[in-house]
Amino acid sequence: MQAGKKTVTVLGCGVSGLTTAICLQRAGYEVEIVTRELSPFTTSDKAAAIWFPFAAGPADKVEQWSRDTYLEFEKLSKNPDSGVYLVELFLLAEDVNELEPGWSLSLPSSSWRVAEPAELPAGYETAFAIKIPLIETPIYLPFLVSRFQESGGTIHMRTVTCLEGLREPGRLVVNCAGLEARTLTVDAELYPIKGNIITGKIQGDEPWLRCLVDDAGENRLAYVLPRKRTGDIILGGTAMEHDDSPEFGPSEVSGIYERCLKLIPELKDLPVISMDAGLRPGRKEIRLGWDAELKGLIHNYGHGGSGFTVAWGCGRAVLELIEKAGA
Ligand SMILES: Cc1cc2nc3c(=O)[nH]c(=O)nc-3n(C[C@H](O)[C@H](O)[C@H](O)COP(=O)(O)OP(=O)(O)OC[C@H]3O[C@@H](n4cnc5c(N)ncnc54)[C@H](O)[C@@H]3O)c2cc1C
Repeated sequence: MQAGKKTVTVLGCGVSGLTTAICLQRAGYEVEIVTRELSPFTTSDKAAAIWFPFAAGPADKVEQWSRDTYLEFEKLSKNPDSGVYLVELFLLAEDVNELEPGWSLSLPSSSWRVAEPAELPAGYETAFAIKIPLIETPIYLPFLVSRFQESGGTIHMRTVTCLEGLREPGRLVVNCAGLEARTLTVDAELYPIKGNIITGKIQGDEPWLRCLVDDAGENRLAYVLPRKRTGDIILGGTAMEHDDSPEFGPSEVSGIYERCLKLIPELKDLPVISMDAGLRPGRKEIRLGWDAELKGLIHNYGHGGSGFTVAWGCGRAVLELIEKAGA
């Protein structure tokens, strides 16, 4: 540790921990990460993952953090090593009244348009075509780890059983433990929202390869997300509240196929390479703030289905709290 440098321990090496750690490093803090798992074994590795505010609150803060994150992803998309790039996503609705574009309309007007009828899958009445960041997790998470380490960050692999044990005089702690925060902080408001994805391999440059999401109607939740760097294609999804089971059940598999085939029938012969289930850290409101009892401890967890979407906004909000307190 360099004398006089302000030091922080970040608990967790998913997207929240890594992004927070990098935000703090950029501001001159010396940061270490303590974690039980690294990529590819975190929940963040199981994400779809697109910039898409979903199952996270409170709405006003999520909108602000999402917008901040969008801008950072736009910058990252200029670096091909990041695994982040902008795609046109069709946000579909079977009925025009189902589409609730609130957050999409808060983006710059050049980022979205109403889709042409010829662009709609059968059975859909309308869609917004929105320019959003797609994040290829197998590239992006190792990219963040490299960025963090190249800037002098250290990672210590261990299981933390008590947050108090991480605190040392003069050192701040940021808790980015995702769903595990529910035992570490005894937080009854944190609960699992199980999600499943099927990963297939793209066979060629098919004209039907595009990003589609139905988050609104009878066919929800359905999404198809081709990844152009790895050549994978992600089919989803599910959002089962309070479901802790790690398995990918047969009904979940058939449900995802059924819903996604409605979007793109050509997917029926897709070669599958993996099926994953992950537990989103669900909470009515993201917990981002100082702990009321333990001095020097900040929480940043409970991002639900939006961990990537709000990551940079939340990381900066943690930094602002620290700077404001003069810590
Ligand atoms: C199927 C699916 C699809 C998704 N799609 C999207 C999407 O498209 N867009 C989006 O924005 N979000 C999406 N999400 C949500 C997103 O994945 C989560 O919000 C995000 O991963 C949460 O990140 P995190 O860093 O807070 O937690 P995690 O990724 O769970 O990381 C927690 C870290 O804390 C460590 N840790 C926990 N407990 C301890 C302990 N006791 N001691 C030491 N270390 C510990 C873990 O090892 C890990 O490193 C999706 C999630 C799923 C499951």
